[in-house]
Amino acid sequence: MMNNAKSIEIDGSSGEGGGQILRTSLALSVITGTPFVLENIRAKRAKPGLMRQHLTCVNAAAAISGAQVEGAALNSQRLVFTPGKLQSGDYEFVIGSAGSCTLVLQTVWPALLFGEGTSRITIKGGTHNPMAPPFQFLDLSYAPLMRRLGAPVQLELKRHGFYPAGGGVIEAEISPAAATLAPFDLLERGALRESYAECLCAAIPRSVARRELEELRLQLGWQEDQMRQGEARQNEGPGNALMAMLAYENVLEVFTRLGEKGVSSEQVARSLAGEVRKFLAADSAVGPYLGDQWALPLALAVWRTGRGASYTCSPLTQHARTNFEVIQRFLPVRITEQQVSTESRTHRVQVGCA
Ligand code: AMP
Repeated sequence: MMNNAKSIEIDGSSGEGGGQILRTSLALSVITGTPFVLENIRAKRAKPGLMRQHLTCVNAAAAISGAQVEGAALNSQRLVFTPGKLQSGDYEFVIGSAGSCTLVLQTVWPALLFGEGTSRITIKGGTHNPMAPPFQFLDLSYAPLMRRLGAPVQLELKRHGFYPAGGGVIEAEISPAAATLAPFDLLERGALRESYAECLCAAIPRSVARRELEELRLQLGWQEDQMRQGEARQNEGPGNALMAMLAYENVLEVFTRLGEKGVSSEQVARSLAGEVRKFLAADSAVGPYLGDQWALPLALAVWRTGRGASYTCSPLTQHARTNFEVIQRFLPVRITEQQVSTESRTHRVQVGCA
């Protein structure tokens, strides 16, 4: 099928200069049928160009949309992507390294909302990676917001895959939602209902989990029954992830630290506690990760309905601002930000029709 739509040129070195520019461009290109040329891919990263995870994102977006692609190769810094017709269905994407399954899923997920039928997606790679949402973040934080936006989804973690070994598997069942998307304001987090920590430990000593949970408990003043050992199996490692879940009335936030060689269990726990304390002290609805990730689904709902919506976020990151720029290149929406008060790091992000 020919695609005669005018192509958009994107500079991958702009703003944050990372992989999100690629993922957002792929998703919105498939949804809107708009071709794009991306130059300087991941120019601000230590190893620029397409890594395995990014290449899998390109191939996945091409597979669901019958796209014609130039530059889909490891280390490529230029991509020409021309989408065809979006096709819902069953797909399997194998990253072939510990590259993040969740980031590959977040590339095809928004697009498959616009398919005609339900899609079942299997992705093999990393499920707990540095600088990417861990599976639990998608499952407990992002997916409930997607459902509230009118986009039903089921997620399953079949097997943990910790960076750098990988070997994880996630599955997602994504229902069509083009007709049901409805934007909503997310301005307040509401009352804190529950907070707990979960520590995953696979093929490393159990004492690591014990020490991390104990230090986190002391740091945050939590009770024993808030500290949980997760269910990673010994043959899924080696790997360690310490996560803190804060369940509010309107949103659940997940903060994560991965264990690293040469970093003590106590340091891992203290670093996580610092991030949790910052969010507990803030007054925004969402934290920095949802702050950048929520913009895309919300913009889609605003575009479909013609109704604007806002959310509050703290801190508003360069990642978020860069994502706003890319979204506005593809969709007729306007994303504006306003600092809530001079004392607060909270911003109100408003997504309206252009
Ligand atoms: P990029 O660095 O451009 O590939 O984008 C990384 C993405 O991963 C962004 O959407 C971040 O919000 C997200 N991310 C990074 N670390 C975390 C984390 N600990 N929890 C949730 N999301 C994360």
